Amino acid sequence: MSAPFPRPTRISLAEQAALNSRYESFARDGRLLPIKVTAFYRAKIDAEVAALGHTEGPLHRGVYPSRERFSVAAGHEVADWVDDRANMPVTGSQTIIHKYPDRVLFMPTSVCAAHCQYCFRQDVLTDQHGEGRTDVQRELAALTRYLDGKRGVSEVILSGGDPMTLPLRDLSLILRTLREIPQIRSLRIHSRTLAFAPKVFADPAKVALLAETGVRLVLHFIHPYEICGEVEAVLRLLRRSGIRLYNHFPLLRGINDHVSVIAALIEKLDELSVRTLSIYVPEPIRHSAPYRVPLKRIFAIQDSLTQSTPSWVNAIRFTLDSPLGKVRREQISKWDEARGLVTFRREGREIVYPDFPAALDVPGDPSIMLWKEATPAAP
Ligand code: SF4
Repeated sequence: MSAPFPRPTRISLAEQAALNSRYESFARDGRLLPIKVTAFYRAKIDAEVAALGHTEGPLHRGVYPSRERFSVAAGHEVADWVDDRANMPVTGSQTIIHKYPDRVLFMPTSVCAAHCQYCFRQDVLTDQHGEGRTDVQRELAALTRYLDGKRGVSEVILSGGDPMTLPLRDLSLILRTLREIPQIRSLRIHSRTLAFAPKVFADPAKVALLAETGVRLVLHFIHPYEICGEVEAVLRLLRRSGIRLYNHFPLLRGINDHVSVIAALIEKLDELSVRTLSIYVPEPIRHSAPYRVPLKRIFAIQDSLTQSTPSWVNAIRFTLDSPLGKVRREQISKWDEARGLVTFRREGREIVYPDFPAALDVPGDPSIMLWKEATPAAP
C-alpha cells in the first residue's frame, strides 16, 4: 500500500493568507467559485482558528482553500459529473434540469450567501455568474411553459445558487405561480443560507410565504458547529410555523468524515425536529480531491454508524449522484480494485465511478473536527 499523502505542518494564518491570495487566479482559471464568506460565518471561523491555532478546522475548510487544493488531483476528474447540461431541456435556458420523470429542478438564481469550496455545481454556476443576474420572470415563464402538459411531473425543486437569497418579491412570484399548477403537489427548496446568514429568515413575510405555500425546506448543514443558538432559534421558528424541515449533506474529508461528527450532526438536527434524508458521496469534479473520501472508508463509516447509533440516526442513506441518477452501495455491480473503478448499475444501465485513491486519503482528525468537545473521539 502507498504511503498516505504527507501533511508536515498545520496551516498557519500567514500561510493561509498566501493560499487565499493564490486562489483568486486559480479559481478564475479553473472555473471555480471565488471565496465568499458572510460576517456571521466568519465569526465562527475566527473562534475556530483562535482555539486551534491553525486553519484546518472544519468550518474554515468548508469555505477557504486548503493547501491540498493546489497540489492534489485524483485523476478522472470532470467539470460536471452528474451531467447537468445534458438534462437541460429548454433551449437557451440553464435554469431548468429535468432528470427524473416526476421532478424538475429549477435554479432561479446563481447567487449563494457564501461559497462552499466543495460545491459540486461550480462549473454550471460559473457559467451563470458570467451571464449576470438571472431574469427570474423570464426563467419562470420558461419553466411554466415547459411544465404545461407534463402530467408526470409532480414536484419542483428550487435549488441554485441558493433560492433563499432571492428577494421576497421573486420568491413569492415563483412559489405562488408554481402552487397554481395543478399537477405540482410538492415544492422543495434546497438552501444553505441558514448556516451562513440566519438573518435572511428574520423577515416574517418570508417565513409566512414558505408556510403558506407548503414548502419542504431541505437545509444543507455539514457540521454540528454550524448549528449555534441563533440558527436553533430560526429552526424553532420555522418549525412553529409548520414548515417541514430536512437536511442532507456531503461526506467531506477533514470536515465531517468521522462517525462521531456525523452522529453529532444528525442527533443535533433530530433534537430540532429536522429530519436527515441522506449523506452524499462527494463527486469527482475538478479540484475536488481535498474533500473526497474513498468508498471503502465511506462504507466503514456507514457500518460504524449502523453499529453505534440508534436507528433514527443510522437509517440515513449514503448516496452517490451520477449521470444515471442516485446510486447506492447495494447497486455496485463490479469493483476493479487495481484501476480504482467502481461500476454501479441502475435500471439496467451502468455508470463507472472513479474512486478516490486510498493513497491520497488523509482522514480528518476527530480531535480537530470536534475541537469543542472536552474528550475528542478516537480516530
Ligand atoms: S450554497 Fe450550495 S450551491 Fe452555493 S456554493 Fe455552497 S454548495 Fe454550491
